[in-house]
Amino acid sequence: MAMLPGMAKQKPSLLHAILTLRCARCREGRVHATFWQMNEFCPVCGLKFEREPGYYLMGIFFGYVINAIIFLPICIALYLLGVTWQAYVGVGVAIVLLSPLVLRYSRVVWLHVDEFLDPRTNEK
Ligand SMILES: [Zn+2]
Repeated sequence: MAMLPGMAKQKPSLLHAILTLRCARCREGRVHATFWQMNEFCPVCGLKFEREPGYYLMGIFFGYVINAIIFLPICIALYLLGVTWQAYVGVGVAIVLLSPLVLRYSRVVWLHVDEFLDPRTNEK
């Protein structure tokens, strides 16, 4: 849809913001500067991502949830298919190999959940 004069810019959807690893407040700024490093502040709205020391410990919980969503159905399917134990080892290897990616998403999901539960509107 074309932007018309006087038309307010619409925020990207929550799902789009999470899938593209964007800021919880403006949904536009990148949370990560590089694959391994996070930005300290949102480059668009200036939101401080790490509210307090140990802030991302809750992100570990969301990492477990993401892994369960991905791998539990796979393990159930493998069990129902009656595969050998080597297939389960393969799932374990996949969990380890995907953990950096899951870590990125788990932190962003936590940022969005925290912003939903305790929004920061006035502070930077
Ligand atoms: Zn932002």
